[in-house]
Amino acid sequence: MNKSACELLSFIRQSPSPFHAVCRMGQELAAGGYEKLYEEDKWELREGGKYMVSRNGSALIAFALPEHFPSHGERGFLVTASHSDSPTFKIKEHPEIDAEKKYIKLNVEKYGGMLISPWFDRPLSAAGRLLVKNGSKIETRLVDIDRDLLMIPSLAIHMDRSANEGHKYNPQEELLPLFGGPDSAGKFEKLAADAAGVREEDICGMDLFLYNRMEGTVWGASEEFLSAPRLDDLQCAFASMKGLLLSENTRQIRIHCVFDNEEVGSLTRQGASSTFLKDTLTRIFDSMGADREALPRALASSFMISADNAHAVHPNYPGKADPVNRPCINGGIVLKHSANQKYTTDGVTAAVFRSICRKAGVPCQDFVNRSDIPGGSTLGNLSIAQAAMRTVDIGLPQLAMHSSYETAGVKDTEYLIQALRTFYSSDIRADKDQIILNGED
Ligand code: ZN
Repeated sequence: MNKSACELLSFIRQSPSPFHAVCRMGQELAAGGYEKLYEEDKWELREGGKYMVSRNGSALIAFALPEHFPSHGERGFLVTASHSDSPTFKIKEHPEIDAEKKYIKLNVEKYGGMLISPWFDRPLSAAGRLLVKNGSKIETRLVDIDRDLLMIPSLAIHMDRSANEGHKYNPQEELLPLFGGPDSAGKFEKLAADAAGVREEDICGMDLFLYNRMEGTVWGASEEFLSAPRLDDLQCAFASMKGLLLSENTRQIRIHCVFDNEEVGSLTRQGASSTFLKDTLTRIFDSMGADREALPRALASSFMISADNAHAVHPNYPGKADPVNRPCINGGIVLKHSANQKYTTDGVTAAVFRSICRKAGVPCQDFVNRSDIPGGSTLGNLSIAQAAMRTVDIGLPQLAMHSSYETAGVKDTEYLIQALRTFYSSDIRADKDQIILNGED
């Protein structure tokens, strides 16, 4: 079994919420020599230093500095951007609801644009963060209840004979997970407190989400597929981190961004529309003692890869794909194109990315929506509204996007790791009207 696929499934299992995903990445980056910074501290950055900074505990930027700070700032940034969040349900405040005096269910609301039906009839649990009072401090504790705890049972076919003819779910009535029998009243917060190792009475806030307990698996006649929760977009976040950790670059600044809240529009303090990236780049240049012209010059010469999963052609719905551009699972990294710029890719950035893939020896393929299907969008555009640089939108091909259990290819994660390792190790910059790719023949 492909090692990267195995590591990806383990990463996903340990990342039941965006907070856990960022924590897990922080551990791996720390092992790779990345030092933790805090936004509220003064930064004293060293040449050749490797750093990471989190915002809200659910977004992360890691960066590696060159061995010598550029004297004129003309060298740009090599950036990847992905997201830590996935569609799920958020548990509301005071979540327990009595039903028939026989059951306790939890009050939840939808987070993001999910496929709803895959959340029914499977074991679920809850994870996220608790805010805990400790003297005069409020501390954050990650929590994962980490056992089969909740279930959203379907209504029997006998009680709705039209159930298979398309159904619009009422999220306040039909999607509430069952938590326990009548004696479970008052126990939810106690279970969360126990799982976090804190006292229930000290909890003064929470951000808890449901997650699918079904483990990731590798399957298919030749073990060519893998399925897991949250492949969109933990697969790209994981591959970007691995690509960064494997890369070497003595000349350019390498940056790995993982934003939160992509599924709800990115317009939050830790989302791609926030100032997080711009603030970080500004502070890097301030710390290098660069002049005011250096940052816009560097941005003009920079390159960003916005990595968010893409749709493979579906075996049962071949008519949903463009007649010519039909990405397949295990066919390589997908370049996403959109005339209306829902994706940032243009001729220039596609050419640069194809060149990176060629150098890395990995395949790439193209996605364009059918002209009669509007499709989705991603975080590339939102991020460059804050820090404008040449950007390409790419992703890994998958099926069942926004299901609670998604399907992708065993080979594709490794393809992206190798492409991003090559990207981060390259010397790419704009010079007048050309893009220079050093190391290319
Ligand atoms: Zn996504």
